Amino acid sequence: MDNFKTKKSLGQNFLQDKNIINKIVDTASVSKDNNVIEVGPGQGAITSILVNNANEVLSVEIDKRLIEYLNDKYKEQDNFKLLNKDFLETTKEDFGSLMDKEIKMVANLPYYITTPIILKVLLEYDFIKEIYVMVQKEVAQRFTSDYKNKTYGSISVFLQSIAEVNYEFTVKNTVFKPVPKIDSAIISLRRKDIKDLGIDLIDYEKFLKSCFKQKRKLLSNNLSSSYDIEKNKIIEFLENKGYKKTIRPEEIKVNDYIDLYKSFKMNFNNGII
Ligand code: SAM
Repeated sequence: MDNFKTKKSLGQNFLQDKNIINKIVDTASVSKDNNVIEVGPGQGAITSILVNNANEVLSVEIDKRLIEYLNDKYKEQDNFKLLNKDFLETTKEDFGSLMDKEIKMVANLPYYITTPIILKVLLEYDFIKEIYVMVQKEVAQRFTSDYKNKTYGSISVFLQSIAEVNYEFTVKNTVFKPVPKIDSAIISLRRKDIKDLGIDLIDYEKFLKSCFKQKRKLLSNNLSSSYDIEKNKIIEFLENKGYKKTIRPEEIKVNDYIDLYKSFKMNFNNGII
């Protein structure tokens, strides 16, 4: 597709480097035991390796200009299916028989929809066990950040509460065409077994956003203003949990947040005050 005009609005920066493409698929350890969902195949840079390695591949591409090209490119590959859809509009029904094998997701995503796509998969598509995704380097650092780090925020805690999140490797901007301004990175997310946690994930995410409402402020201030609970009651609660009253949101570890959330809900009548 030599004269294809890439659309910035769709985040179309296509991978050009075979070594990096192979490294992504190697990192995902895609084998004939896996079915793969790929978001945004573009001109098929990653897709070509996926169809050779995986049992079945379903690629979801929003840009209808690429559909005929991709279907033609892989017409001999009977393990390839293409869906012309916005991934954010997909439902479980779109994946039908794919679900009979362990599913991995591989994606080089447009930067502006990285977080909504990852959250959609983690919250709605429990049949996808592992995600390997290219994101902006700074986003990768935020998602994998540890407590006490300046990039640690509610999204770091949320993702790491429900998945093992790893920074796999950095990808230089020069391997894309057109060349984006910044470097990227591949991260992996392996879903944790959280059934026994007994928490409402949507509500937990809201709680975390409240905790980090203003990162540099005290946790007690953030919680008190978000939930409309008197500050001294929040301080008493935090002290009972063994925290000092001056604790800041970035000083609490991921696992301790889950416990804090559960206690907060019990203590404050589910936060409905
Ligand atoms: N995988 C190719 C590669 O690595 O060269 C293309 C990656 S490019 C960064 C992102 C691709 O995602 C583009 O092909 C774009 O059209 C597609 N895309 C953008 N938004 C999408 C969405 N909401 N759902 C599905 N595909 C989307």
